[in-house]
Amino acid sequence: MTNTSPRPSIDRDAIIRILSSNTPDAIEAVRRQAEQILLTHCGNKVYYRGLVEFSNQCACNCLYCGIRAENTSVRRYAMNEAEIIEAAQWCAQAGYGSIVLQSGERKDEPFVAFVENVVRRIKRETVSTDLPQGLGITLCVGEQTEATYRRFREAGAHRYLLRIETTNPALFARIHPAGQTLASRMQALEHLHTAGFQVGTGVMIGLPGQTLDMLADDVVFFHRFDIDMIGMGPYIPHAATPMAGWPNPDWPPARAFQTALLMVAAVRISLKDVNIAATTALQAMDPVGREKGLQFGANVIMPQLTPTEHRGDYLLYENKPCIDEDKSECRRCLERRIQSVGRTLAINEWGDSRHFARRTAEA
Ligand code: SF4
Repeated sequence: MTNTSPRPSIDRDAIIRILSSNTPDAIEAVRRQAEQILLTHCGNKVYYRGLVEFSNQCACNCLYCGIRAENTSVRRYAMNEAEIIEAAQWCAQAGYGSIVLQSGERKDEPFVAFVENVVRRIKRETVSTDLPQGLGITLCVGEQTEATYRRFREAGAHRYLLRIETTNPALFARIHPAGQTLASRMQALEHLHTAGFQVGTGVMIGLPGQTLDMLADDVVFFHRFDIDMIGMGPYIPHAATPMAGWPNPDWPPARAFQTALLMVAAVRISLKDVNIAATTALQAMDPVGREKGLQFGANVIMPQLTPTEHRGDYLLYENKPCIDEDKSECRRCLERRIQSVGRTLAINEWGDSRHFARRTAEA
């Protein structure tokens, strides 16, 4: 962690009370409080990050993930440099302001050099009068060495998403193979801080064996690690994974979905000025799930820019929505969704986390 200045403590009991809300009145009271804090600390705007899932090749075997290395039923793909640059230029021209480059995890030098080069080109080739510093770039390409993170940062990426999925050691160990450890994930998040990134992470909600106490610990972790951006969604099983048949009696889908919304609210109420994504996994469970995410305190949406021919091959979970819509349809659809909940769409803005500005000013 880079910031060692004293910071307000966080009320774990209050988080558990929020997550335990189970009547319509109690849930609405939480939602209103989260919305008020959002408007006070972050304003009314919703920020876009155009999402390019540029490769589903992955060396890891997370037990919940549909594109894990051992799933041989997946058709593997990797977009080439020209395809990614074209998507970035569309993103810039559409006024999205920021792009997310996401892939499975590879640590080999050809992959690292490819990402580094693509980041440099996007920075160079998306500069315009509307975007004088080019697109804001977020990377989401897994655990890397500190040296690699520094290379990506120097190339021009300034945000990085690395989901931790759960901070409970026993649960983390149960849903990952032996070689993937919670300690190494936390170390990577530390390295992202020291490399100068705005750091994003997140968890799944409704994992077999997960409890509200564990979720409250996750929120405490976000605070303790000075996380700038959070993405959370309900756990949705994928049939071609080892976890597909695991019994999960405590988490019927409706409870996982509702608790995911309450987690969004709990994070907004507790952390106040972080960016929170209304994730696609919310929409996978409810046709208006992302709108609900915005109403419970989220302020970021990630419209799909992955070419439609690849989207069906990037399924971390099943029933992923927006598989067929092309990016123009996706843009129009999301604009309607944002306006339907009374929020304003930010155009040509990076939409950086206010938390990042505050923690770096205080450091
Ligand atoms: S969750 Fe990420 S790292 Fe894990 S198997 Fe899936 S793509 Fe690979």
